[in-house]
Amino acid sequence: MSQPHRVHVVGAGLAGLAASLTLAEAGVGVVLHEAAPQAGGRCRSYLDATLGCRIDNGNHLLLSGNRAAKRYVDMIGSRSTFTGPGEAIYPFLDRQNGERWTLRPNAGKLPWWVLSPSRRVKGTHVFSYLSARHLLKASPEAVVTDLLDAGSVLYRRLWQPMAIAALNTEAELGSARMFGDILQETLGAGGRDCVPMIPREGLSESMVDPALARLRAKGADIRIGSRLRGIGFDNDRVASLDFDGSTEAIEANDAIVLAVPSAVAPRLVPDLTAPDEYRAIVNAHYRIAMRGDAPWFVGIVGGTAEWVFRKPDILSVTVSAADRLVDRPAEELAPLLWRDVAAAFGLPEDPMPVWQIVKEKRATFAATPDQIKRRPSTATRWSNLVLAGDWTDTGIPATIEGAIRSGFKAAARLLGHI
Ligand SMILES: Cc1cc2nc3c(=O)[nH]c(=O)nc-3n(C[C@H](O)[C@H](O)[C@H](O)COP(=O)(O)OP(=O)(O)OC[C@H]3O[C@@H](n4cnc5c(N)ncnc54)[C@H](O)[C@@H]3O)c2cc1C
Repeated sequence: MSQPHRVHVVGAGLAGLAASLTLAEAGVGVVLHEAAPQAGGRCRSYLDATLGCRIDNGNHLLLSGNRAAKRYVDMIGSRSTFTGPGEAIYPFLDRQNGERWTLRPNAGKLPWWVLSPSRRVKGTHVFSYLSARHLLKASPEAVVTDLLDAGSVLYRRLWQPMAIAALNTEAELGSARMFGDILQETLGAGGRDCVPMIPREGLSESMVDPALARLRAKGADIRIGSRLRGIGFDNDRVASLDFDGSTEAIEANDAIVLAVPSAVAPRLVPDLTAPDEYRAIVNAHYRIAMRGDAPWFVGIVGGTAEWVFRKPDILSVTVSAADRLVDRPAEELAPLLWRDVAAAFGLPEDPMPVWQIVKEKRATFAATPDQIKRRPSTATRWSNLVLAGDWTDTGIPATIEGAIRSGFKAAARLLGHI
């Protein structure tokens, strides 16, 4: 189809926002529909009454090598809202024996950092890093532990925590090929591409609010609280969209970007195959002011917490693939995770600060070989309907980078660029 006159983007998560921005910048009329009371989807900030401050629904780590995310950030002019260590520095603590080390990949692509005991993981040998090359030959059916030695120190202290964080799936079930691709884009690309980018205030302030402001400036019609209930199809095209209390006719030159989560899309689109198995992420937030020279974050192995982030007045824990924890009461999780946080940041265990536990049961789809096969492509059999979302076939796991790539791709498809 030729460049559409007007596009309805359904879902104002990062995929929908990235699509909307690209279309609006190209001069297309955009109507953005979001069911929830606020935009941002799984990447948002809000005021937490217990903590008495704004928090993010979950810690999100962006890396300097996330090219689509950086392009998006530049489109909305929010680069200056990010902070961080400014170089690829990853401090770790092993809770089993209290050992600490700092992973410090060198900037360039040639990984000479593995030669330096002060830059690589404590207790590992330079040759053990060569094991990562097996991932590059992984079959689509292979899981991470098929190709990496799960009994090795390097696995326990680096490959396993990286695989769980990247895939939000246990390494024993997660796709080896997808983990290999992510390793190539991060550690394999050199430290220059692994510099953490941390929102100074929050996810909404860095990724969502400036996007909405830019869209408004471009004349986009943003409808918050607008839930799509059904799609009317007419032969090979979408003819109408049904929202609560209103029906929107789709004119000949109109198109739709469906950027809702994978649990919602198959209810709206007939015969759509999409990932249908999920993994939880549990976050714990503790209200405590830290000194500005404390680490930005600490990776923990051998504990329950996995990553602890220092935010203004808050220490925030992330546990990925956390289905084993998600049904445990918050009152049990808070002290359990706090013990890891206190050890990581050298704080007393008593008293535990004011806390909040946030559980996202369906944080992302499970990046297993079988689920990856269920990811649909952008185009559909309807000429004016395209899909976006971290669960579509982006080639990378369900992440900010993946969601934004999918939104850019959906817009490019409608603009006739691909
Ligand atoms: C706790 C947590 C931690 C995470 N950590 C990281 C991380 O460290 N790094 C990283 O890169 N990624 C991380 N992610 C993943 C990342 O947040 C997601 O991949 C990304 O935000 C998904 O964006 P999306 O636009 O595809 O989907 P969503 O954000 O789910 O957006 C979909 C939108 O559609 C709306 N919607 C649903 N149904 C309808 C309807 N019928 N009509 C209209 N609107 C509808 C929803 O309300 C939502 O706003 C994390 C996710 C979670 C939950």
